[in-house]
Amino acid sequence: MKKPDVIVIGGGAAGLFCAFTAGQRGLSVLVLDSSNKVGKKILMSGGGRCNFTNLDITPENYLCNNPHFCISALNRYNQWQFIDMVERHGIAYHERKHGELFCDESAKDILAMLLDECQQAGVVIKTKCEIKTVAASEQEGYSLQTSSGNYQCKSLVVATGGLSIPTMGASGLGYELAEQFGLNLLPRSAGLVPFTFSDGIKQISEKLSGLAVDVEMSVNGISFRENLLFTHRGISGPATLQLSSYWKPGQTISVNLLPDLNSQELLLGYKKTSAKSLLRNLLAQHLSKGLVLELQSLYWLNMPRQQ
Ligand SMILES: Cc1cc2nc3c(=O)[nH]c(=O)nc-3n(C[C@H](O)[C@H](O)[C@H](O)COP(=O)(O)OP(=O)(O)OC[C@H]3O[C@@H](n4cnc5c(N)ncnc54)[C@H](O)[C@@H]3O)c2cc1C
Repeated sequence: MKKPDVIVIGGGAAGLFCAFTAGQRGLSVLVLDSSNKVGKKILMSGGGRCNFTNLDITPENYLCNNPHFCISALNRYNQWQFIDMVERHGIAYHERKHGELFCDESAKDILAMLLDECQQAGVVIKTKCEIKTVAASEQEGYSLQTSSGNYQCKSLVVATGGLSIPTMGASGLGYELAEQFGLNLLPRSAGLVPFTFSDGIKQISEKLSGLAVDVEMSVNGISFRENLLFTHRGISGPATLQLSSYWKPGQTISVNLLPDLNSQELLLGYKKTSAKSLLRNLLAQHLSKGLVLELQSLYWLNMPRQQ
C-alpha cells in the first residue's frame, strides 16, 4: 500500500483506534510504527490488566487548555461505546475503586481487540518503519520517506504518543512534525508519574518500600484522598500519580498522613493527657510503627530540643 487514503504514524492505543475508525468509513489505512510491535504501552497499562475506561467520565476529568474539546470529544465517543466494544469482543472485566474498569485476564485482550477491529476494517500495519521525512503539497497530499520506502496519502495522522518510556518506542517525532507544520507547542510536563527523591525521603522510602498509606496529598489547592505507596525510589500509588499532573518543579507537596483527624487537636490533646509519652508511641496508635520510626529518624530524633 504505497498510496493509501490515510497514513497513521504510531500504532499505540490512539493510532490503532483512529486507524480502524477510518477503515470503517471505507478509507484505505496504513499504520507505520518504528517499533517491532504495536501497542506495547497498552500491555503494561494498569499493571498488565489495563484500566481501559471508567464508569464516571465527564469532561471535567480531563486536563486540557480547551475544555470545549473534551466536551465535543466525549459527545462523539464515550465510555459506554467503548464498554460496548469490549463486551462485543467477549472480554471479561471488573470494576475497582471509583468506577475504574480493568480486564479480568490481561491487557493483551484490549490490544487483541484493537488489532481485530483493525483487521476487520482492512487496516494494514507496518512495524520497524522509521520515518525519515514528511512533506506536504497541495497536489500530492503528504509524502513520507521511510526506512521501508516512500509513501503518499491524502490524510496523515500523527499518533506517536508522549515522550515517556523510550524503550517502548516513544520518540519526539510528533513534536518535531508539529513544529515543522507551524503548530503552537505548549510546554511539556510529566503527568500521572511517581515522584523520585535523592535526599532523606529516598532513604526512608527505600526502607518502607511496599507500604501503602491512606493519605490526603495536596498541591496548589488540589488534593487527592487515596493511597500513597512507598517505592525504592520515592513515592507512587494513586494519590501520588494523580497529584503529579498538577505539580510544577519547585512547588511543595503536602501529605496529610492523618486525613480523618485534626492532627493539631490530636497532639494538643495528647499534650494534656499523655505529656510524658513519646511522640512515636502516640503516633503509632494511628500509623504503622515502621512509618513512625522512619518519620522520627527523619524529622525529630536528631533535632535540637526547643527550650
Ligand atoms: C506504566 C503505565 C501504566 C499505564 N496504565 C494505564 C491504564 O491502566 N489505563 C490507561 O488508560 N492508561 C494507562 N497508561 C497510559 C497509556 O498507556 C497511554 O496514555 C497510552 O498508551 C498512550 O497511547 P498513544 O497511542 O497516545 O501512545 P503510545 O502508546 O506511546 O504509542 C505511540 C506509538 O507510536 C510509535 N512511535 C513513536 N515514535 C515513532 C516514530 N518516530 N516513528 C514511528 N512510530 C513511532 C511507538 O512505537 C508507539 O507504538 C499507562 C502508562 C504507563 C506508562
